[in-house]
Parts: sequence; C-alpha cells; structure tokens
Amino acid sequence: MCSLCEPRSPALSRRRLLGGGAVLAAAAVGALPAFAKDAKGASNSVVPPPNAISPDDAMKRIVDGNARYVAGNLDNKDFSAGRAARAAAQYPIAAIVSCADARVAPELVFDQAPGELFVVRVAGNFVNDDGLASLEYGVKFLGTPLVLVLGHSGCGAIDATIKVLKDGTRLPGHLPTLIDALKPGVEAAIAKKPQDLLAEATAENVRSNVRRLSTAKPIVGRMVAEGKVKIVGGIYDIGSGRVTMI
Ligand SMILES: [Zn+2]
Repeated sequence: MCSLCEPRSPALSRRRLLGGGAVLAAAAVGALPAFAKDAKGASNSVVPPPNAISPDDAMKRIVDGNARYVAGNLDNKDFSAGRAARAAAQYPIAAIVSCADARVAPELVFDQAPGELFVVRVAGNFVNDDGLASLEYGVKFLGTPLVLVLGHSGCGAIDATIKVLKDGTRLPGHLPTLIDALKPGVEAAIAKKPQDLLAEATAENVRSNVRRLSTAKPIVGRMVAEGKVKIVGGIYDIGSGRVTMI
C-alpha cells in the first residue's frame, strides 16, 4: 500500500466513482455546495469531489506538507502511484503562483501528490492577464479553494529589477517586460529603505500580487468576497526549505 493509496484512498476512490467529466461539469455550473449538502443526506446522493474543502483546510494541508518537507519526512515519494486514477480528472486543493526558478518545486515544497497543486509559474511570481486567466480556470472550473503567491529567497528576477531601478542596468530581449511587471513591488520596497532590500522587495512583490488577485474582476475577486476562495502570500527559503506566510 503506497502513501498515495492509503491516506488519500477516499479521494482516489471518489475519482473512480465519479469520473472526471461529471465533476467538472458540476463545478462549471457552481454546483459544488449542492454536492456537499447532498453527501450528508440521501443514500443516492453524489459524493463531493476531494478538493471540496474550505480555504482554511487547504491552507492547513499545504502548511503541514511544508513541515514534512522541512523535516525530510515526505508522504509523497512515488509520483507514479495513482497515475491511472489521475487520468480521469484533477482536483487541486491549492493554486500556487510560483517563480520559474529551478530550485522552487511546489509539489516537493508542500509535499503534495500530482494533481493536488495547480501551478502557474513565471520568473518573479507575478500575475499578468495570462496567469489570471489560468487562475480563473483553477478556482472557477476546478474548484480550487486556495491561491498562494509564493516568493522565494535569492530571486534573480527581483534582484534584476532592483538593479534596473537603482543602477540603470539595461536588459536584453523581452526581459524588460518582466521588470515592468515587478516594478510596483520593488518600488514599494525601495521607498521603505529596508536593511535587506532584496528580501523586502520579494515580500512586497508577493503582497502586491495578493492584493491584485484579491480584487481581480470578474471571477477571482468575487469568489474571494463570497468566501469560496482565499488568497495568501508566502516566502520560500531555499536554504531551509521553510515557507513563511506573510
Ligand atoms: Zn525567482
């Protein structure tokens, strides 16, 4: 019995029971609360999808997963386990807005199995229109209850933005478009004159994107206001493996 089959057996058996299409169609018409209600009652009711959990419960699962990662006590060691069941559908418990940095691997950092994290990655972990559209799909159609904007220590994209703004460094190719996206957070940090500008700029960039997502029209902001989705921010320390929520 593998770690995927054992603690998560209810989830996987539901996937087999329901099939992906029916669940996605239900999620698409906003029927998840009805699923949850039905599950408590009649014997012929439909079982809720495994990610029909509260934002706070989702948060607890990824925080606990990070603690396992830091301690080197992983639940998810065999990513091939559960493959066939996952072919039917995906039920992510959290969406992660992550940097493209090769040292940041969300499934490992939060000790989650494939199919449990919906990850949008771009250097500097910011949200543009494409990223927002992906997140809208994640929360609206996949029923993901939590979005985490994840900055990290030693971020090259943030560091490059600081150099452009403070030293006038010029970057080639399309890199200036990344700088433009990261400017708001970095400028806010520079204005605070912090001791560790890179760390503060990384945190301000996370806060700036959490704010943007929390009010993003027309889908994400409304779901946040309705309490169906929570937007949070965190910083991953590459050296220790620990994620600190901010
Ligand atoms: Zn980075």
